[in-house]
Parts: sequence; structure tokens; C-alpha cells
Amino acid sequence: MMIDLRSDTVTKPTPAMREAMRNAKVGDDVYGEDPTVNRLERRAAEIFGKEAALFVPTGSMGNTLGVKLHTQHGQEILCEAKSHVMNYELAMAGWFAGCLCRTVAAGNGILTWDMVCKHIKPLSPHWAPTGLISLENTHNMAGGTVTPKAVLDEICDGAHALGVPVHLDGARVFNAATALGIPVRELTAKVDTVMFCLSKGLGAPVGSMLTGTRDAMDRARLYRKRLGGGMRQAGVLAAPGLIALEEMPARLGEDHANARLLADGVAAIPGLTIEPGRTQTNIVIFDTAGTGLTGAAFAAALGERGVLCNAVSERGVRFVTHYDVSRAACEAAIGACAEAAQAAPALR
Ligand SMILES: *Cc1c(COP(=O)(O)O)cnc(C)c1O
Repeated sequence: MMIDLRSDTVTKPTPAMREAMRNAKVGDDVYGEDPTVNRLERRAAEIFGKEAALFVPTGSMGNTLGVKLHTQHGQEILCEAKSHVMNYELAMAGWFAGCLCRTVAAGNGILTWDMVCKHIKPLSPHWAPTGLISLENTHNMAGGTVTPKAVLDEICDGAHALGVPVHLDGARVFNAATALGIPVRELTAKVDTVMFCLSKGLGAPVGSMLTGTRDAMDRARLYRKRLGGGMRQAGVLAAPGLIALEEMPARLGEDHANARLLADGVAAIPGLTIEPGRTQTNIVIFDTAGTGLTGAAFAAALGERGVLCNAVSERGVRFVTHYDVSRAACEAAIGACAEAAQAAPALR
């Protein structure tokens, strides 16, 4: 069997999730009548300490709604240069909200108030005003790095003082909270809206949530409908989502420990390098330059040895741990890395 480290999105629903899907009470959610969706939205709001939440089919739609809610056409959104909103959502900020992404590069993916404050612009005849700051925690393409609560709070305080709202792309915010050892509601207390994925490390087959004020979620519901996201008997999807939300965060520490194991294993292999301290959660990004192989070629070599992963840059390969890969599988993946590196032209 292949060891699938491509993403935590590949997790399959657990037997308990399958059972919950079978037994889910459903209704028409466009009428607000699906009891399971309603329960999921209530629980998500409670867990995040926000007034309300909205079930959305994907994290990308959650971010799209978050951007739209806070902005007007012709504004700028400040986001990190390698962020998902900027790079992997097909320019939705421009397409749906009519906004330009103004990127700020933070090598480790962690934006600070010092970095963003100089880019906040008021209305003027020369430049577009800043409508929103969009943050990402954990930061996927920086290797799952964690923005600490104090750093997030300082950005929110600074932005709010200038009348600028803050959206959090928290696709993996439970991983961030786990790494920090605090509840998500504490970590995201000052953020205006939070999107998080049920379908990644939490293991649900489908779905993400947007949380925020009641008024914002009422408006987001209409935008979701405009985007074709009005789902009917969605309780069959919300039921595994509830299990993901209630039961799965507690086990994310295991994924983090497995990622550490992978990072340490990879660091010890000649030809592969990894930035020390970068692996804080369930993502490991390493550099293949010393093997003479591109990231894509190295990923292909791993594929031949039973390990699936993604190249994320010219020399970068990413592993993502999740509940469908055991510690033993991670040890086997390290073995495959050692073999692939040894067979590489630069080291042969
Ligand atoms: C996965 C992900 C999303 C949302 O992805 P979907 O595939 O649309 O659910 C958003 N932000 C980040 C950082 C992600 O990793």
C-alpha cells in the first residue's frame, strides 16, 4: 500500500463518521431546516467563541466569503506572499470581491504588525485603500508554521484601531492551537472571521466552516448561495463534520510528533536539507538541492518507492502527516527518502 503524505485532505472518513452519515437527521438547509447542519454551525460558533458559523463546501469558498464580507470593490487585501488566498484560490479575491492582493513576504510565513502596518493605506487619489488583512495559521507553504497568539492579537489590535478588519485562513487552525497548547477560541479571539477545514487533519470527507458575527454569517449565507453553495440535505456531510470537530482535534499532537520524526529523519540524510525549527505542526517541507534532483524528480523517485508526496517548489518537497499515516509508515518514508537520495546522480 502507498504511504500517502501528499496532504491531510486525503484522510478517509472514520467508521464512526460513516455511521453518523448513515443515521444523520436531515432537512433542507437552504430553508435553514437541516438539524444536523444547524447543530454543527452552533457547535462551531461555541467552540470559536463567535456569534455564528456557516457550513461551506470548501475552505476556498470560506475564504472567498470572508474576503467578500469585509471588503468593497477597488480595495486591497494584505496577505502573506505564499498564502493560499493569494496563490491557490484562482484569484477569487479579484474575481468575486474585486480586490487586489497586496502581498507581504515573511520567510517563515508569520506576518507581524511591524511588517503589515507600513502597507495599510487610507483612501487617496493615488492608491487603493486597505480593506482587509488576511492571515494564515498554520501557514501551509511555509511548512505549517504557527503564528503565536500575541503576534495575531497585535495585528488585530493595530488593524482594528485603523478600522481594518482581519480574516483568518485557519484551514489548520486546530493544528496551530494544538502546537500552542491553547483553545482555538483563545487563539482567534480578536479575529473578525475565521475559516477552518473539517476535511483536512480533522478527517471529515467534505466541508469547512466560516465563523464570525451573526450579521456577517447572515450575509455570508447569501453569498454562499450566489456561489452555488446552497446545499440541501447537507446533514449527511455535517454529521461526520461534527465528529471531526468534537473528537479529532485531540489527536492532532500525534500528527505533529510524526512530522517531527520525518523532519529529523530527513535532516540526517545526505543531500536533503530542512530548516531547523520549521516543522512545528503536521507539515514538513525539505530541500532536495544536494541530491541534484528537482523537487518533482525527487517526489517521483519516492513514488517508485511507495511514498506519495508533492513537490511544492523547484527544490522543495512537502510531506503532510495525518491519521491515515502511522509512525511506522513515517519511518518507512524516511527509509524511502534515504534510498532515493542515495540513488540520485549527485550522490551515487
Ligand atoms: C486547504 C487549504 C484551504 C482550503 O482548501 P479547499 O481545498 O478549498 O478546502 C485554504 N487555506 C489553506 C491554507 C489550505 O491549506
